[in-house]
Amino acid sequence: MDTVTLTLLNELFEEIQKKHDWKAGMDTIFLSMRGSFVFDNVAIYLIDPRTKGLEVAYARAMGRGKNAEAEAAWGESLANEVITTGKKVIKEPVLGSEDPDRLALAHLIGFPLFVGGKLNGALVVIRFGGPAYSMQHIQMASLQAFWAATLIERRDLQEARAELDSVQRQMRLQDDFVSTISHELRTPLGFIKGYSTSLLRQDTTWDLETQREFLNIIDEEADRLTRLIEDMLESARLQSKTIQFKFAPIRLDALLRDVATRIKTHRPELKITFNFESLTPIQGDAMRLSQVFNNLFSNAIKYAPGAEILISMAIAGDYLRVTFADNGEGIPEDYLPFLFERFYRVPGERTVTGTGLGLYICKQIVMAHHGNIWVESELGQGTTFIMELPIDRPQI
Ligand code: ADP
Repeated sequence: MDTVTLTLLNELFEEIQKKHDWKAGMDTIFLSMRGSFVFDNVAIYLIDPRTKGLEVAYARAMGRGKNAEAEAAWGESLANEVITTGKKVIKEPVLGSEDPDRLALAHLIGFPLFVGGKLNGALVVIRFGGPAYSMQHIQMASLQAFWAATLIERRDLQEARAELDSVQRQMRLQDDFVSTISHELRTPLGFIKGYSTSLLRQDTTWDLETQREFLNIIDEEADRLTRLIEDMLESARLQSKTIQFKFAPIRLDALLRDVATRIKTHRPELKITFNFESLTPIQGDAMRLSQVFNNLFSNAIKYAPGAEILISMAIAGDYLRVTFADNGEGIPEDYLPFLFERFYRVPGERTVTGTGLGLYICKQIVMAHHGNIWVESELGQGTTFIMELPIDRPQI
């Protein structure tokens, strides 16, 4: 091999190695060799592990051929042949002098792709109107196939790593959850046990007022325990999709005002402002949507104490958009992507009790309505939950 070629290959190799995005790497492979190896289209077919059929993983139109990227069907039968034989296949057209459109005649070449040592697909290039592939072209295509397979291996590795990260995060959350939940269950149980034991003591008599006070604590703690268990069951049911939603036309403004009124009976000091621009009924499960708003109120009370709550409603395209904003401390940006995950709680010093289930439950409910919910937050400014529910959806 001459030094110029070697230098070129070396530069190319280095460039491909640096590409994080595998598709950008593929572009480099095919575009950089166009000076010495001309073809019109290239496509990479991979065996779909589930269906065992071929899927187009990458396709690019380079020249005269008008086949768009999406239409890579031209190479599929050759790709099948390559995969069946496990060898390169070259298909040159049989030329006759009377051929009306020589430019339309296709010259195809296909190479097997071995990913992780396993035959996993094929690379096919097409050239319209010749000339026939030279030995050098065939060798270049072979090199491209080798690089392409390496990039696909890199893609698979990146995907596997992302999946592993997600599983590991889930496992960490489960671990945290076990310790949170045992703490959360023990605390109310501790109160209930402590105060009932005190009341039952034979050697002490309690005046009526103290008895009532103890019984109140027992009552509240039992409620807390019930809520906690309900949340856990609810999140498990939502996750396994075993909940039946009862859809009916509802006025979300009325529902929200109801929830707010109920909350205000316990928290008269809470400042809530409504700004409802346009109101239209939606199809929804009133009980479940009340649960969503209850959670948002309860979070604002817990994590933005003393803050004002501003609730707006407006139509945004096909959706009714509700924004639920507080002007509390806000949430650091790094934590925002995980807020709706099951068991997720923003790390840090914890004085507020919780399980990390509330927002997960909210999201599941909103998604069952074919809607969406997300959060925006700025430190020192506050937190806004935005929810969109489809208007005028046919009943499920
Ligand atoms: P929990 O309240 O049980 O921890 P959630 O799923 O309801 O679980 O909330 C997840 C986390 O999101 C909370 O732990 C809290 O850190 C954060 N969070 C939720 N709402 C707000 C809010 N309005 N302001 C600041 N942080 C919030």
